[in-house]
Amino acid sequence: MERTCFNTELSEKNVGEQVALVGWVSKKRNLGSIVFIDLRDRSGIIQVTAGEGINVPDIRNEYILHVYGKVALRSSPNPNLPTGKIEVIADKIEVVNTAKTTPLIIADETDALEDTRLKYRYLDLRRPVMQKYQDIRHNIKMAVHNYLSKERFIEVETPILTLSTPEGARDYLVPSRVHHGKFYALPQSPQIFKQLLMIGGFERYYQIARCFRDEDLRADRQPDFTQIDIETSFLDQDQFLTMMEGLIKDIFKKTINYDVKLPLRRLSYKEAMENYGSDKPDTRFDIKLHDVKEVFANSEFGGFVSAEAIKAIKVDGVAHDTSRKVIDSLTLEAKKFGLGGLSIIKRENGEFTGSFVKFLSESEKEGLIKVLDIKDDDIVIIAAGPYSRVCALLGALRLRYGHELGLIKEGTFDLLWVVDFPLFERSTEDGSITSTHHPFTRPRDEDLQYLDSDPTKILSYAYDIVINGYEAGGGSLRIYDQDVQKKIFKVLGLSDEDVKRKFGFFVDAFQYGTPPHAGMAFGLDRLTMILGGTDNIRDVIAFPKNLAAVCPMSGAPNVVDEDQLKDLGIAITDFEK
Ligand code: ASP
Repeated sequence: MERTCFNTELSEKNVGEQVALVGWVSKKRNLGSIVFIDLRDRSGIIQVTAGEGINVPDIRNEYILHVYGKVALRSSPNPNLPTGKIEVIADKIEVVNTAKTTPLIIADETDALEDTRLKYRYLDLRRPVMQKYQDIRHNIKMAVHNYLSKERFIEVETPILTLSTPEGARDYLVPSRVHHGKFYALPQSPQIFKQLLMIGGFERYYQIARCFRDEDLRADRQPDFTQIDIETSFLDQDQFLTMMEGLIKDIFKKTINYDVKLPLRRLSYKEAMENYGSDKPDTRFDIKLHDVKEVFANSEFGGFVSAEAIKAIKVDGVAHDTSRKVIDSLTLEAKKFGLGGLSIIKRENGEFTGSFVKFLSESEKEGLIKVLDIKDDDIVIIAAGPYSRVCALLGALRLRYGHELGLIKEGTFDLLWVVDFPLFERSTEDGSITSTHHPFTRPRDEDLQYLDSDPTKILSYAYDIVINGYEAGGGSLRIYDQDVQKKIFKVLGLSDEDVKRKFGFFVDAFQYGTPPHAGMAFGLDRLTMILGGTDNIRDVIAFPKNLAAVCPMSGAPNVVDEDQLKDLGIAITDFEK
């Protein structure tokens, strides 16, 4: 098809030139003697004008046109269009293809329900904003390829049909036709393979890798998602993080032309929890958690007496707005986090007010003022109970106020590392111990002494990169000492038999000259969300699933033929109702 350029490559410089364009009809206005058409291709929109004597076929929105014409200056420019100063005066307009009326409007603003958008995704993808997200995604990948290739990384593909990998989520399983009763697992990450590539001598590996985790979905989670997966040999934590900072700087520069200041701030996990109540803190606004346990050391208030933690946040200038309704909704939030309630006090006209004030002694009031620097019209929210719940609740409330009060400046980016994560977590349900990251994460040398006596005290060489309150990536130095690895498996309650079945080949490999190695994975989808300015992961994946893990377009997952099941030796006993 003859085409001289994309629409938005034209500008005043091209006035007088003869051009041939293609595109979809975005809008048509027929004024009788003259017809205006907004022609849209991947680059954007240009106005085509057909005057007297031009045969304009019967066209509707989303028809595809082939237009020949001459570029001219517009008598009334449109400042909202990048090509708004010019138009193409058509000599000839041909219809390349027709289109039915689309079930959603092809424009950035749409009132279509998300399931309609997903069902007709190919039309949804035609919306310029959706194309912008895919552009950003592509530019991130190009920045990754370029930066890492320059640093002598190579991309290696790892299997999709594999054994279970250790990221701690539920696996997607694929039954084997050849070996009835046996299953492949789809990889939750390439973790084991990338470490084997280090034993294989590659030293620097990366892969734009698809990963699969069968988890409950949320606004920022999909069953299949993409990681920028990285592994290196012979770098210590500082060297590795510095190299990754260079990558992230390049990604921001090449996609949205934003200069990230390096080095990035590093917060320990403990500092993050203490001050922000979260291991992925959004530090773009200043509300912080404060420890007030000391202030209440002599309190006789029931909820405080034997509480493991008593912490508070102060919110400036909202006392006058803190009605009974607001207090009830804050209390409800506390219940969701498994706490009995909250204590809320206001400062008005130089006095503390609120129903909790009667439980405060003079010295406690003074103590609060000293720790929290309370001024008129501020409120103080105090939570007491188990440390992790208190942190989680106040962390969520500081975020809620940050958003509600507009304390977060749009278009700003806050990047930091969270380091020194605990190696293990204890389950609140059954008290069992699990890995915070995964079982191959290396314990800090100085904490190895607790491996037998008190493993939950051990911190690890694990790190997350946090951007605007999102965990945008994470990784760790890996264990390369077989004895330490064996002990870790033991703490995790894995028997020799389990280890052999799950990771036997992996453990064996470590006997043959394993280099010290470290790696991480960035979430490509999350990075695209952050750089594209959307908080919905489905916007940045071309063909995503909805929150019920269904693809409304293809209908996956779906039933299969009896014969297929027979081949696999599978009988369904429990059908979805
Ligand atoms: N495999 C890890 C993850 O998916 C990342 C890493 O440790 O490199 O979170």
